[in-house]
Amino acid sequence: MNEAAAWAILLGGVGAIIGSFLAALVIRWPAGRSVSRGRSRCDHCDAPVRARDLVPVLSYAVLRGRCRECGAAIDPRHPAIELASLAVGVVAGLVAPGWSGVAGAVFGWLLIALAMLDLAVFWLPDRLTGTLAIIGLAGGGAGLDPPMADRLIGGVAGFGLLWATARAYRLVRHRDGLGGGDPKLLGAIGLWLGWRTLPAVLLVGCLIGLGFVLLQRLRGRTMARDAAMPLGTLLAIAAYPAWVFMISMAS
Ligand SMILES: [Zn+2]
Repeated sequence: MNEAAAWAILLGGVGAIIGSFLAALVIRWPAGRSVSRGRSRCDHCDAPVRARDLVPVLSYAVLRGRCRECGAAIDPRHPAIELASLAVGVVAGLVAPGWSGVAGAVFGWLLIALAMLDLAVFWLPDRLTGTLAIIGLAGGGAGLDPPMADRLIGGVAGFGLLWATARAYRLVRHRDGLGGGDPKLLGAIGLWLGWRTLPAVLLVGCLIGLGFVLLQRLRGRTMARDAAMPLGTLLAIAAYPAWVFMISMAS
């Protein structure tokens, strides 16, 4: 077996397990429930999930999306986040076998949690964004591409751009157009990708948002002009493919 395939299997497997933890975090944290208890529990009846039902993705399929104890529907975000985390790990292993791929997978896993939290409750917790920023800096310190100078400029530029946009919007429209967490998130993404890749992240994020609005129109739904779009979700979704593209180009 070649090296890339071995890394893809390893990071994919770790990703599926991390995904089940991330799903619990994303679903339980906004509700103010403990996310750090030792065992997985049903979101509905709080019964501990049995060991044989803990297999990511597969258990959901075997149980047909229902809790074995109470029969309540399991939040489909559980298998969705597990699958996305598995996919992030596999792709990272394939495009960057080795430590760079491990770093990329961690980047993707943190972005999944941030994207899902912003989507559900318009919340980008500082603890997660801060963790993203610190690991991004550590990667630069460990000599992973892009170089530290690019990362630092990316961090300042990403934060500064959205911070200034938010200020300008508030001055003109007298209300907030951006969430407070958005500038911090783009800053943290800049610390991972460097400033050169940031324009692509913004562009792709905006295109995904635009595509979503157009899709709603096609379905006959109009969105209010001031309807909130989770910018953090769009940026997070755009940032991982941007990392994949950047790493593929560099190697
Ligand atoms: Zn239950």
